[in-house]
Amino acid sequence: MDKFSSALQARPAHMGEGEWKARLELAACYRVFAFLGWTELIFNHITVRVPQQPGCPRHYLINPFGLHYSEVSATNLIKVGIDGEPVDATPYTVNRAGFVIHSAIHAARDDAHCIMHIHTTAGMAVACKEAGLSYDNFYAAQLWGDIAYHDYEGVTTRTDEQARLVGSMGDKHCLILRNHGLLACEESVPVAFFLLWTLNRACEIQLAAGGIPGANRIPSVDAIAASAHRNHRSVDPQGQLQQKVFDAMVRRAGVVSYDSLI
Ligand SMILES: [Zn+2]
Repeated sequence: MDKFSSALQARPAHMGEGEWKARLELAACYRVFAFLGWTELIFNHITVRVPQQPGCPRHYLINPFGLHYSEVSATNLIKVGIDGEPVDATPYTVNRAGFVIHSAIHAARDDAHCIMHIHTTAGMAVACKEAGLSYDNFYAAQLWGDIAYHDYEGVTTRTDEQARLVGSMGDKHCLILRNHGLLACEESVPVAFFLLWTLNRACEIQLAAGGIPGANRIPSVDAIAASAHRNHRSVDPQGQLQQKVFDAMVRRAGVVSYDSLI
């Protein structure tokens, strides 16, 4: 049975199946972030691109400003244009300033179907360090060659920073926003989630290792390169591993049925 089961039957009449599925999956992802504690009061975003209808502009789904991630549902997610303006009537508002980063990357990268940004303690701590992420732990090594950095310009509210942000990101999938936090963009929600989890876990370990006396043991370049070849894309190009991980975390977050996310 499709994991969305009867939730698909509850699709609003005016909405395409692709958008409704995207809403259900994204709502589930917000619940997973809430379960993991990857929340910052009512701030930050996970965004996805709505499957595009022929001849229509691209639209995106974003959380309603003022709700905790645990309150986000398929129906209260807001569909916006690249300018952050809601497409349909909604009782909620969008934190447009927060969408500045997401809209820049969505617009610039065809492969950025899903963008996730977090302010976890470990991620922010590593982002504060001049050297950034060290490739001396198991998870960090898997991200070798796929991490970009963007210098801090203050709270990201100005659209003139977007071009610099996109330039900093290049073709990478992980972005460490210096003095700020972590970001991942990917072709799907499960793949982006697994990538961001790996990045955040790497930061957690680096943070923990900083409290242990002695120099860090640096693996050989060959070992780091070999780890990178086991990373999220090459280990399972179809994303089945990432889907298994995501589905398990959705269940762990207490979502026993996608019906509960409507
Ligand atoms: Zn932020």
